[in-house]
Formats: sequence, C-alpha cells, structure tokens
Amino acid sequence: MCAAILLTNGRVIDPLTGLDGVRDVLVVDGRVAAIGHGAPKPDGAQVLDCAGFVVAPGFVDLHCHLREPGQEHKETLASGLAAAAAGGFTTVCCMPNTTLPLDTPTLVAWVREQAASVSLVRLDVIAAISAGQAGERLAPLRDLAAAGAVAFSDDGRPVWDDSVMRAALRAAGELGLPLSLHEEDRALAAGGVMNAGPVAERLGLRGLPNAAEERMIARDIALLADEGGRARVHIAHVSTAGAVELVRAAKRRGLPVSAEATPHHLTLTDDLAARPWDGRPYDTRTKVNPPLRARADVEAVIAGLLDGTIEAIATDHAPHSAADKQRAYEQAAFGISLFETALASVLTLYHDGRVALPALVERLTAGPARLFGLDAGTLKPGARADIVVFDPDAEWTVDAAAFLSGGKNTPLDGARLRGRVMLTLAGGVEAYKWTAS
Ligand SMILES: [Zn+2]
Repeated sequence: MCAAILLTNGRVIDPLTGLDGVRDVLVVDGRVAAIGHGAPKPDGAQVLDCAGFVVAPGFVDLHCHLREPGQEHKETLASGLAAAAAGGFTTVCCMPNTTLPLDTPTLVAWVREQAASVSLVRLDVIAAISAGQAGERLAPLRDLAAAGAVAFSDDGRPVWDDSVMRAALRAAGELGLPLSLHEEDRALAAGGVMNAGPVAERLGLRGLPNAAEERMIARDIALLADEGGRARVHIAHVSTAGAVELVRAAKRRGLPVSAEATPHHLTLTDDLAARPWDGRPYDTRTKVNPPLRARADVEAVIAGLLDGTIEAIATDHAPHSAADKQRAYEQAAFGISLFETALASVLTLYHDGRVALPALVERLTAGPARLFGLDAGTLKPGARADIVVFDPDAEWTVDAAAFLSGGKNTPLDGARLRGRVMLTLAGGVEAYKWTAS
C-alpha cells in the first residue's frame, strides 16, 4: 500500500539544496520521493494544489517550553505539539525546566516516548546542565545524551557558577553536544521585570539592563576560549545590540559560538509594555525574559540575522495560564505563547522588504537543524517528509482564545498579521490543516 501525496505548483524553497522555484513535490511512504516539474502522479496519490503558496521544510525550533510533566494546566505535550504543528513546526526541542527538571535519563526518555505517543511532530529534548537546574553540580550529561538529549541547558536561569560552567564545557565537548545558554548576570538583573530604559522608568518598573545579558555572554565566550573552544556554545534568545556584537566577534575569532533570536525580539519593542490591559496601566503579556528591548536593539538583532551572526529563529514558546498574567507586572510570569504567531511575525520582516523569503526559511529550517545536528530541515529526496505549506500573504487577526496551545498569553492578541500556515505534514502525514472558521 503506497501512501502518496503530490503537492503541485507551489514555490518550493529548500535552503539546504539552494532550491527556490515553482515545483511539484511528491511524497511517498512518509519520505520526499521527488521534486520536479510535472512529477509523475502515482495511482491513488492525493493531489494538493499549492499555487500561490510556499512549500518548505517543516520548521525546526531549538527552544520551547512544553510544561509537562508538572504544569499541565499551562500546556501538555499534546497541546504544545498540536500548536507547533499549527505553526508549521515539525521538529521542536523542549527546554528542561519543567516542574521536575529533565535531569535524569528516565525523565528524558519518558518525555520523548510520551511525545511520540501523542503527536507526529518530532520532539527532541534539551536536558539540564546542572542537577535540578540548581547550578551547583553537573547533571549526568553522558547518561542524558545516551537517553537521547540533543543539547544541554539550564534555561530560565544562567549557569552562574564559573567552575560549573567550565565543567559543562568540558563534558559537553567530550559528547559533541551543544550547550544552549540563558545569559543573565543575576547581580545586574537584580529583580528586573522589563527592559531598563525610559519606558520602565515611566511605568515605575525595575529594569533588566542590556549589560546583564552581555556580561554573561562575555564570560562564557572567555571560558570557551580558555578551554580551547572544545564545546559548541549556543546563545539562547539574543536580544541586545551588544550581545549580537559579542557573538559576531567570537565567530570571527573562529570560536564555536552560535546564536538564536526569537520572533518577538526581531519584531517588538518595549514600548508595547505601556499599553493598558486587563485594568492595569501596562500589558503583562509583554513580560518575557530577556525582555522586549529598544528599537536600536531590535535593529541590531535583525542585522545579526541578515549577516549570519544569528543562525536560527527559535520561538521560546512559553505558555502560561490566564491567572499567571492577570497580575501586577512584578508578579506576572515571564513568557509568551509563540508557536501560532511565529511565522506571521517574522514574515513582517519579509513584507517590509528587510529579509528575503529564502533567508527567513533558512533560519527556520536548515540553520537550526545544523546547529543541533538534527536530521531535519530539508526536502532533499529521501528525507522524512516534514513539510510546511504556507500562504505568505494571507491576512488574519490573531485570536489567542482559538490557539491550540494551552497558553493564550500573547501581546499580539487582536493584531493583524500576514502569513498563514495552510498545511503541515510530519513524516508525510497531515499534522495540521487550516480550515476557514
Ligand atoms: Zn531563557
């Protein structure tokens, strides 16, 4: 029995092979079988007309929070992965800061098995760097790798102890796996809740200075150089101009440093926080860490994306319950529900003429796959048929209440965006299909 799907007449963009043109894509038995003009149609093949749409490899996300086990009231693996599919993602890497941090091989294996039982979207696990993510001693990195971890991170907090960081670099280097680092100097961050600057001052809120992020990145680059560049250091959610410059300079020195940026740090600024919401003089849905920054920082992050300093767009999808956000800014949870707006958000850069479509697709597919060594992010014949079909021009209004994610927390609720995922295939099987409501 041959399950075949023929996607016809779409603009096929596969950055890994350099393909950008109108083609047909034939999927047979869960794999890309052929790409060409007028590909032969096997008997019984389902034909989908993709004229006017982009056909690309399914997106790869190096950074999301799926909350299970422990906080299923915010998100479950099932709801999170359904939201990922709706956003065009077919491979996502979850962070280990669940209630029970993912710091044992048993937990890593459990999450992977659970995810495979509820979704076609491939879930890869980023395991903890330190036991309990407490920053005091290393987690069993070798055992975590054996259980399938693709990278290590204490995301949510920095690895503040220099000697733990040095030990992590050595251990990860021996395993050949990257460290994904949440960079925040705790002394400089000192209880800040939004970007330090005029908006925070006007709102009377404590600021998170750019220096908190930059000092920690500088330390980790210095340690990496000290250790002879033996591990890949991946800087999570870069948000400041200084951070981009640090990564750029480290790459120029030949150090194995890489970076990701989120859709919000590429498109939104801190003045959005001053919009009244839910009976308060500010919008807690903008509260995220690192915070939304000033325009000059956003411009620097875009420049980093354009010149290859930033090789991946990662969502930092961070679902929360309504109660987590309906609080004073100081007490509200950090994080934005991202999967279902990610594509349309970054497409604003394309519609504004800032970034070409193939470059954006590259940072969502081949770029991140390369950084974490994932077998994903291409349509070359023989590859697993992880495919997204999207309409880059379709206009829609964000309705957070309709999100498949358990997290409805987005400052984009009600915003008009352009770009809609029409179809997501994971392993050649429909994981999401848009239907007019
Ligand atoms: Zn983080």
